Amino acid sequence: MRIAMIGSGYVGLVSGTCLADFGHQVVCVDKDPAKIEALNAGRMPIYEPGLDALVAENVQQGRLSFTTELKPAVAAADAVFIAVGTPSRRGDGFADLSFVFAAAREIAEAVDGFTVVVTKSTVPVGTGDEVERIIREIRPDAEVSVASNPEFLREGAAIGDFKRPDRIVVGAEDARAEEVLREIYRPLFLNQAPILVTGRRTAELTKYAANAFLATKITFINEIADLCEQVGADVQQVARGIGLDNRIGAKFLHAGPGYGGSCFPKDTLALVKTAQDAGTPVRLVETVVAVNDQRKRAMARKVVLACGGSVRGKTIAVLGLTFKPNTDDMRDAPALSIITGLQDAGAQVRAYDPEGMEAAKPLLRDVAYARDAYDCAEGADALVIVTEWNAFRALDLARLAQVMAGRVLVDLRNVYDHASVQRHGFHYVSIGRPGSG
Ligand code: NAD
Repeated sequence: MRIAMIGSGYVGLVSGTCLADFGHQVVCVDKDPAKIEALNAGRMPIYEPGLDALVAENVQQGRLSFTTELKPAVAAADAVFIAVGTPSRRGDGFADLSFVFAAAREIAEAVDGFTVVVTKSTVPVGTGDEVERIIREIRPDAEVSVASNPEFLREGAAIGDFKRPDRIVVGAEDARAEEVLREIYRPLFLNQAPILVTGRRTAELTKYAANAFLATKITFINEIADLCEQVGADVQQVARGIGLDNRIGAKFLHAGPGYGGSCFPKDTLALVKTAQDAGTPVRLVETVVAVNDQRKRAMARKVVLACGGSVRGKTIAVLGLTFKPNTDDMRDAPALSIITGLQDAGAQVRAYDPEGMEAAKPLLRDVAYARDAYDCAEGADALVIVTEWNAFRALDLARLAQVMAGRVLVDLRNVYDHASVQRHGFHYVSIGRPGSG
């Protein structure tokens, strides 16, 4: 199959590269010339483990190329995927579909011969109808079928997720589109990946329902963690105790500073807005959004409390800025609210992240960036672990105790256990475990 991938960000670049690796002929398009220039020079515009090698191999095999020129890529394609961003619209929280519709218009002008246009971006239910309308209006003659194929990969584990997905969801309104998408994903059937073919609207909504459910699960365990702190229970054991029940499942039951990232915050909000417009508010998700928003800022208060009630004039070392490990993505990372909250309370913040510091710099003011965890901790009154990068899972606590001015360790990811940290003289605060608050 000849495939054009419109948008070469976290999703487009990984999906395009993996599809090339399946043996398809893929052109990744992006309107950002810096991204395409970097890719053509063999440099990755994002950090994603294993991506550089997979890109290099497929480029070398002649199956993968990068361009800013949408027209020829689309004209030659059997299938065109739209993988552009759908951020929250400023002001009202609806999904901003301007990039999707702009891509649809450009695609309409370029299509040649029967082409399946597939929306991979996360888009509100009904967007496929609008994409189809736009294309038909501009090119009534075009032989186009519009399908939905939401993406479920996780940053940091994106290649494995794309190649071994739990399921592939295809929303198609006709047999031709279904056939093309089945052919594209055929290499995955060897891995027994189930393909679920639904109507287009169902596929669109499935993506939001999945993200809202996962966000709810995280928020649920976070509230249970708060309760644990008040009543002297241990959230990690509660999570294990419920997670071993197959009906519940153990994943997404790690209490922490609240969910962030480029998907959950905007997708839960967009679902709330869609449901309100449809006259069937999803009140549970509305509450999840509100609880999670408050939680991030509450984490700053937790640090202040751990420091004895005031951080004015104190230096706080923050380890981990990205919303999760193994990515450089800073979009809606809890670290942003936590650091701002600490600064508002009068603290000086020093931070270190293995991959996220470049992306963090334009989003945070007056933060000093360190070379590594120990450099970050040097002279600090308190150390806060915000993201559980591997590099922070086995810190030399004796060395930390030596270089720090204070002995406060706030572990917002429950990486350490009480006894071992206290042995080094630290006041240790974690989430939802005895002595956490
Ligand atoms: P991103 O911002 O990393 O990438 C989007 C890219 O599209 C950018 O490089 C931008 O320059 C490019 N672009 C925009 N308009 C274009 C146009 N007309 N022509 C060519 N290129 C254009 O975004 P992302 O994180 O890859 O997310 C893309 C979509 O996938 C979103 O809808 C998101 O919700 C969804 N999604 C993301 C993830 C994730 O983990 N990031 C997972 C599943 C789904």
